[in-house]
Amino acid sequence: MISSVLIANRGEIAVRIARAARECGIRTIAVYSEPDRLAPHVLEADEAYCIGPASSSQSYLRGDALIELAQRVNAEAIHPGYGFLAERADFAAAVETAGLVFIGPTADTIAAMGDKTEARRRMAKAGVPIVPGLTEAVADADEAESAAIEIGFPVLLKASAGGGGKGMRVVERPEDLRRAFEAASREALAAFGDGAVYLERYLARPRHIEIQVLGDAHGNVVHLAERECSIQRRHQKLVEEAPSPVLTAEERAAMGETAVRAAEAVAYRGAGTIEFLYEEGEFFFLEMNTRIQVEHPVTEFVTGVDLVEWQFRVASGEILPFAQDDIELSGHSIECRITSEDHLGGFLPSTGVITHLEVPTGPGVRWDGGIVEGGEVSLHYDPLLAKLVVHGATREAAIRRMRRALDELVIAGVETCAPFHRRVMDEEEFQAGDLSIRYLDDHPELLEPDDAEHELIAATVAAALLEDEHRKRRAPRIEGGGGAPLSGWRRTARPWGDRG
Ligand code: ADP
Repeated sequence: MISSVLIANRGEIAVRIARAARECGIRTIAVYSEPDRLAPHVLEADEAYCIGPASSSQSYLRGDALIELAQRVNAEAIHPGYGFLAERADFAAAVETAGLVFIGPTADTIAAMGDKTEARRRMAKAGVPIVPGLTEAVADADEAESAAIEIGFPVLLKASAGGGGKGMRVVERPEDLRRAFEAASREALAAFGDGAVYLERYLARPRHIEIQVLGDAHGNVVHLAERECSIQRRHQKLVEEAPSPVLTAEERAAMGETAVRAAEAVAYRGAGTIEFLYEEGEFFFLEMNTRIQVEHPVTEFVTGVDLVEWQFRVASGEILPFAQDDIELSGHSIECRITSEDHLGGFLPSTGVITHLEVPTGPGVRWDGGIVEGGEVSLHYDPLLAKLVVHGATREAAIRRMRRALDELVIAGVETCAPFHRRVMDEEEFQAGDLSIRYLDDHPELLEPDDAEHELIAATVAAALLEDEHRKRRAPRIEGGGGAPLSGWRRTARPWGDRG
């Protein structure tokens, strides 16, 4: 087993990685930007080093500085987490050139799967069904137009170098194509330094279903079944679950085998995800993420496999001890992404100091968080504050548990989307498992205030008063404040009972 790791990340994923490392007896080295000096991921690690000011480009994205630091402090490996440098092939290559272990696949694999058209070519060659459309970028608007006519409207323009939904445009009508092509190309150039764009068919009501894979450095690859991530906003995931409420055992086996074939085609090492769109029994390769995913805990809950621990073990050269048949699913798991965004204001980012935090606990509840009371939420970083994850014997039990856990959650000082999740858990089609990536288009009411939300406002006032009392009692710990008084969820107007 490797003996030390530099965690090149922050927030909840850096905390998560440090925990797994400590369980494996690995020395943990955190890095932080100036404002993150007292952040949980810093306190969680054995050692921590400042790497620059708030801006990511001057701190968490400084690949060379991170490698230099790793060498200086005798770290054996670098774990990139997700985001930041996780899918930069040049970074992975530089880490290995410096004689360090990169916790992830090889730079070649990252490069191949990071380019969407190249990935589509490789997958098609390996017999993996891809979303119908092109496997090369188009040269100009004329070429885009003739390709779109051939594919059939609606089409989706996508950036070859894409990620995070950037450079993506749905085009319903031929007359809108040129303008959309220019816009997608411009956006891709600005975001990725590469304006290349291609086209695929825009599926009407697919589900987003992805397969977790795990490979070792000796050619063994298994899959750990699927996660359904259909509840999205602007192509970004909000709620994830495992297993999918819709897949049959046969479909699971077929998608799993296809994902393993896809991973084998790029000699995959470590934890990775093959994303598919699923529609009426058919599934199509969307992309591969060559890193740990935000939503990995739901897979951990239903399989009992610690994916981050296995990232470390695979990076240390261990052979996977389980074959496909050893992987069994148990119960149902749901994850809600708790972001500092106000769903009622169109998911506008909210900033401020977290003045009060109550985290749900109890049976079947997992909180992967990167926040503490007194911590500041700024616009410098991703709005993902934490993930609330539950496990239950059945999907219904998991939904009940998530409701209970969301009821227990209190975050004061910044707005969060927790109340949105609480409403999703109560929504009939969600409960019936009737999902598609259009879920939010079908349920605009989830983004409007309702009676329950008015209750929340009443609760907010009560909470604000109580919070003041709390603050007086623990006076020196929390300074500052401001921002929204409470973001969380309580069902009654007197939410605090007699605790105050
Ligand atoms: P990115 O890498 O930018 O996140 P993806 O290719 O992973 O982009 O797609 C993100 C989301 O966009 C998918 O989960 C899905 O909701 C939607 N999407 C992507 N491709 C299609 C398609 N061909 N038809 C319909 N929806 C799509």
